[in-house]
Amino acid sequence: MTDLRPDTRVVHLPKVQPEGSTPISTPIYQTSGFVFDDPAVFADGMGRPDAAFVYGRYSNPTTRVLEEAVADLEGGVAAIAASTGMGAINTIFLALLSPGDHVIAQHSLYGGTGHMLEELEARFKIDVTYVPEDDPDAVRAAVRPETKFLYLETIANPMTQVADLPGMCAVAREAGIPVIVDNTFASPILCRPIEHGASIVVHSSTKYLAGHADIVGGISVFADQELYLKVWKFHAGLGAAPDPFASWLTLRGIQTLPLRMARHTENIRILAARFAEHPAVEAVHWPGLPTHKSHALATKLLPEFGGVFSFDLVGGREAGERFMSSLKVALLAPSLGGVETLVMQPSTTSHRSVSDAALEAAGIRPGTVRIAVGIENVEDLWDDFAQALNPSD
Ligand SMILES: *Cc1c(COP(=O)(O)O)cnc(C)c1O
Repeated sequence: MTDLRPDTRVVHLPKVQPEGSTPISTPIYQTSGFVFDDPAVFADGMGRPDAAFVYGRYSNPTTRVLEEAVADLEGGVAAIAASTGMGAINTIFLALLSPGDHVIAQHSLYGGTGHMLEELEARFKIDVTYVPEDDPDAVRAAVRPETKFLYLETIANPMTQVADLPGMCAVAREAGIPVIVDNTFASPILCRPIEHGASIVVHSSTKYLAGHADIVGGISVFADQELYLKVWKFHAGLGAAPDPFASWLTLRGIQTLPLRMARHTENIRILAARFAEHPAVEAVHWPGLPTHKSHALATKLLPEFGGVFSFDLVGGREAGERFMSSLKVALLAPSLGGVETLVMQPSTTSHRSVSDAALEAAGIRPGTVRIAVGIENVEDLWDDFAQALNPSD
């Protein structure tokens, strides 16, 4: 290098080649592309995920470690990381659907996913049939020759209905239709949908996987190689790949995922029970309570019931707004799955574009409040909630 001039030497930086040791933490490969000695190896790496890394839009070594870690947690053969949860979901939709195709999806969907299905219907000639999340017969009745997949969510937002994964997947399997499951609310610590017959599992890794409210990200995990390769080829062209630093933060988050889930679920058990007993609370929506529609199914399917619950206050929307603005520890904010407890009102935020009739069908009232329980000391959380439930005290 020393025979080169300084303005070339600063461009071609020295390479560190450690011998006899490797880093404990996965390195962040913050590079757009990769350097080759052999043009044939370069050419061979194009268009496939199992050869040399070529370009950041296709693959990246830090992102690959994340993909292998989540594929392993979910019991899949491979995974594709994306820049957001919606990036992962839309990549699958666009890779698998053509005009004239039909999709079956559960009624209660994450708002962004429901909105994209409406777009596909309105502008791309995709037909969608909505079914209850726990009704295999409704799936059997909805199947057509042009049905491309069934779309479910393990635990739905914000009323926390639990999908009958074994029952719904069995019917789809008989009909030869792949099942896509959004497992964001459960995380692979509480549920591994592939074990129940799912073909693709998707996550907004923004939530529990990354777990610290510091990145947006998504990932899809595949039960078989054929579907993986089909979606990967589309992913490489679509351009929703994650930045390596976001992949690294997600990996760092995943290292404490089991610890965090244990704390989220321990805290929510205590809080949901206390809300259910409080005289200012009309109803608590959480599958861990015997009053919830999914309680029996959830008890069979899940060891714990996630970290999110919703509730209605006596006094409706005004009471809900007073509650939210009285909080001092819990934060008024979107999203979930981070270490902080976050509170929001679905009817005016995540579900604001949903019609009143559809809100009512989903059981969401104007005053329904959703709490994503964090990992704080549960008594500090309860003190905060108790004072906000009795604002006159
Ligand atoms: C947040 C979320 C998404 C979308 O993920 P983004 O990372 O926000 O794009 C999809 N599904 C569920 C269940 C979510 O909670």
